[in-house]
Amino acid sequence: MAIERTLSIIKPDAVAKNVIGQIYSRFEGAGLKIVAARMTQLSQAEAEGFYAVHAARPFFKDLVNFMISGPVMIQVLEGENAIAAHRDLMGATDPKKAEKGTIRADFADSIDANAVHGSDAAETAAVEIAYYFPALNVYSR
Ligand code: UDP
Repeated sequence: MAIERTLSIIKPDAVAKNVIGQIYSRFEGAGLKIVAARMTQLSQAEAEGFYAVHAARPFFKDLVNFMISGPVMIQVLEGENAIAAHRDLMGATDPKKAEKGTIRADFADSIDANAVHGSDAAETAAVEIAYYFPALNVYSR
């Protein structure tokens, strides 16, 4: 197994629910290290750029509006198989379909407000990490 890095975003709904710490505990419990972190309120341009791959989808405008509706907590997670391990912790995109005990099953209300984002492959992880974190702000220890 390879040591990987992946980008995690705790979305505005989960930040508003005050569950950042509970979600961080799940990362740590699964052996994922938080090697960079930043709380921010995304601008419309930042959210549109981040989700550019979904620009043609019918939900794009609502997704962008949701992502800028409040602060988000953005982090880089590092560990063995981090990309898939993180996706397992997150659960399915639609919380109604997410397995019991996953972050989305426990904290998300709907497919629109679904608590967390996680990179889905090595290529997207590299692009997404670079989007939010200049290399100098990532600490591997
Ligand atoms: N999304 C949505 N409606 C949909 C599908 C997706 O609002 O019908 C949003 C949802 O917030 C999701 C994000 O778009 O997390 C990106 O979709 P993707 O299919 O990449 O899901 P993810 O990788 O986040 O599970």
